[in-house]
Amino acid sequence: MPQFVEAKSCKWYKHRVAITDISQLETMIELTEEERAWKEDGPSTLPLLISDHMAKLIANPAIRRQFVPSSRENTDDIGTLDPQEEKKHEGTERLIHRYTNRAAFLTTDRCFSYCRHCFRRRFTGSMTGPASDEDIRKAAEYLAKHTEIREVLLTGGDLFTLSDERLGKLLSSFKAARPDIILRLCTRAVAVQPDRFTEDLFNVIRENQTGAPYYLMTQFNHPDELTEEAMHAVEGFLSLGIPAMNQTVLLKGVNDDAETLIKLCNDLLMHRIKPYYLFQGDLVKGTAHLRASIRKGLEIDRILRRELSGLALPQYTIDLPEGGGKVALTDNHIIAFENGIYAIETPDGDIRHYPESESEA
Ligand code: SF4
Repeated sequence: MPQFVEAKSCKWYKHRVAITDISQLETMIELTEEERAWKEDGPSTLPLLISDHMAKLIANPAIRRQFVPSSRENTDDIGTLDPQEEKKHEGTERLIHRYTNRAAFLTTDRCFSYCRHCFRRRFTGSMTGPASDEDIRKAAEYLAKHTEIREVLLTGGDLFTLSDERLGKLLSSFKAARPDIILRLCTRAVAVQPDRFTEDLFNVIRENQTGAPYYLMTQFNHPDELTEEAMHAVEGFLSLGIPAMNQTVLLKGVNDDAETLIKLCNDLLMHRIKPYYLFQGDLVKGTAHLRASIRKGLEIDRILRRELSGLALPQYTIDLPEGGGKVALTDNHIIAFENGIYAIETPDGDIRHYPESESEA
């Protein structure tokens, strides 16, 4: 029988149960050598945390691969812990201002479940905790001064691990500073902890629904994540008039085949969630075993373009290393491929290099 324990170190988690230990997983699924050998104290390692909702699905191979850690995380050493060079672009300690017209606010380092492919390993699960009143105040002041910013991504970690009270404080402060800014509510919680979306939480959003609109930005990577509970949580946002967009990460052994992605995109659309991005995995240390190759991604993209309507089609995109920014991964941006390394043009005309995944080079 699965055994759940109360997760550590978070106000909201005190009410939750989740898997935090390999020995608990052993009671639920037969672990591989690599899964059993994972070490939590590696330099690029995220804590192990799987929500009660995801624990119910853990025998599903696509879910297992995303949430059960592997010792490959301790040895994969391509890339860095900050491939987007966010640290260099801090407007305030929690506000990253990398693009002129938008910024990202790190609401908390906590998530309901830690995805093993997380690109923000430098911060996620680092026990820094939710943004303080001071963090929120400084970010709001920055936004008030920087009127070129049109959109803010409320991200982390997961925004919705904040208590209702802290969420209200954050939304009201940003709305007061800049009512004209679009706030993107970036969350994986609708997929991994859908019962977080209570009437009280929606009331907090409703109370702060003034000025520019919100957008819900989900991350569903596989059709089996679109559970009834998850769709109900998304429905709560849609009924407030908040549009939903989905960002999928292309993951080896999870969704790196056209059939899975076609189903995912069509199912999302049927639930009024627009497939927005299909992301090539960032060069984050500890995640090489989960990265699909660009060659495979381009092949899949060609099929998706043929099989999906424009509405259902996500844009296959890479966030280039060394803070090079996002570009659509089409043949137009790929300048060269030599010795297993792609040269890809940034939006500013610079060049960044991206090595092909080992098994495909
Ligand atoms: S929910 Fe987002 S921030 Fe949290 S571990 Fe997953 S990808 Fe990273």
